[in-house]
Amino acid sequence: MIRYKCNICGAEMESPDSAEGQKEVCPNCKEPRRVPKNPSPRQSKSRSKILPIIVALSVVVVVVGFLFAIKLARRSEREQERTQKQSEQFVEMHSERAKLTQELKDMQAGHPSVPPKGKTVVEAWLEAQRIGESGNKYWCDREAKASLFAVRSWEILKDTEDGKRKTVTVRIDSSTKGGFRTTNIWKITLVYENKRWGIYSINSM
Ligand SMILES: [Zn+2]
Repeated sequence: MIRYKCNICGAEMESPDSAEGQKEVCPNCKEPRRVPKNPSPRQSKSRSKILPIIVALSVVVVVVGFLFAIKLARRSEREQERTQKQSEQFVEMHSERAKLTQELKDMQAGHPSVPPKGKTVVEAWLEAQRIGESGNKYWCDREAKASLFAVRSWEILKDTEDGKRKTVTVRIDSSTKGGFRTTNIWKITLVYENKRWGIYSINSM
């Protein structure tokens, strides 16, 4: 059946499907009018079928998107943590080196307000020799300056301060005059003179 309203008087009408598109006279207002086309039952049926599918797909898309976003967020969190850790290690390593460098600079610039540790001067002297320099500038001015042959590595064993002297005990891997590898423990004394700490003497133990 086709249900519709009379377009003249608005009365509710009902006609069989076979009357579709045909002229009829309204029993209420007696005016002739055409029976409208029956809305396709197939169309409305398919629309009612498609809607839940669209809703279900939308839900799936939203859920998948949400899970993906969570995964991304977790990954970036982990990466951030790793980067943070690395940069902390980097800063730690470099701040230690920067501290030693600053102590040495202060010493050379004649700022006794930040007196360097004895081992800072000794290590600077050894590093200078390791790379082939004399290292004389780390010595006091009045002393005969000593140097070792082929300094390779060292280990600070003790670093003490006694009044106006600093004493550093260090194991040094170097060579004899004849070119043989030798490891010795040295006691190096530093004094404060001319506004800086310098090596005063070095004695084998
Ligand atoms: Zn009518």
